Amino acid sequence: MDKIWANSGDSHVLEPEDLWTSRLPAALAARAPRTVKDDRHEAIHVDGKTVFRTLAAFLEGARAPGAYDPHLRLEDLDREGVINQVLFPSAGLWVYRIEDAELWRSCARAYNDWMAGEVMTVSPRLVGVAILPQISTADAVAELHHAAHLGFRAVMLATSPPEGREYNNPDWEPLWSAAEEAGMTLAFHVGTGADPRMFRGEGAVVINYVETFVPGQRTVSVLTASGVLDRHPKLKVFIAEGGASWVPALADRMDEGYRQHGAFASPKLSRLPSEMIYSQVFASFQHDVSAVPAFAAMRYPNVLWGDDYPHLEGTFGHTQETLHTLFDGVDARAADAMLVGNFDRLLGTTTAIPAPA
Ligand code: MN
Repeated sequence: MDKIWANSGDSHVLEPEDLWTSRLPAALAARAPRTVKDDRHEAIHVDGKTVFRTLAAFLEGARAPGAYDPHLRLEDLDREGVINQVLFPSAGLWVYRIEDAELWRSCARAYNDWMAGEVMTVSPRLVGVAILPQISTADAVAELHHAAHLGFRAVMLATSPPEGREYNNPDWEPLWSAAEEAGMTLAFHVGTGADPRMFRGEGAVVINYVETFVPGQRTVSVLTASGVLDRHPKLKVFIAEGGASWVPALADRMDEGYRQHGAFASPKLSRLPSEMIYSQVFASFQHDVSAVPAFAAMRYPNVLWGDDYPHLEGTFGHTQETLHTLFDGVDARAADAMLVGNFDRLLGTTTAIPAPA
């Protein structure tokens, strides 16, 4: 079986346990995300709240040798056939549940300094995403500038923003301008912000898994309809781990809404929603068989693949099998765009396929 080399638009670090305790004053560190595990459950403590989940959801921590260690990670990447990875947090995903501005700002700064200093320096193949604080726009803009200075190419926002800070709120405008000017991609990873678990009982595991990708779709709808993408045509938005074939459907729905209800729509848009979405919104998938036709048949050009390493939803251990299932027989130019080129377009990187070992 020939090795298919691919970039991953959606991967994760597992942070050291002392990431925040070793970097923040004790009073803040005590409220930073912290995980306590027993045989069957884990409790995540963050900002005075506790979230319980079954341990199965986080067993991935032990699966991949390079989950914690960036040097071992590169060996995993070579074996799996992954060239470059966009690195999202794991423990840091819980930062998006914080309600205190100082705590969020401090956790974000410590994470970003650690990611830039301890991970991104190991190899240019490790492309970190910076955490942004979201209680105040001024904090977000300041951290975006710090992240740009540290060499980040993308910053992360929650798919479910804090209450009252929805993305059509004009208060966010300075952040959109700052991101566009800095050439910084806005990355939204599914499942961030408010608890996406809506159901208990029969079917809940899969129902709640579906619920995690709904706010990502809402984010695209809000940023498009409220004129953010129109006012900032160079801004790139990335929905990670949410699949890709929903994007053409959402674009159709928005075009219809804008056309049929346009007389009542505000703001007026200079381009159709679908034009903005097809040029500015990127989406990543792991296993979805419908994602490839979204590119090849529906002509949505911004589909990219992701391994979601080392999480349970990801492809670690079966990456080559997955890539062959998805891409064998696919037109070479289309496959190259989804596997390599769109990553570079999204992040401004230049990918070199590793030489055969
Ligand atoms: Mn992911």
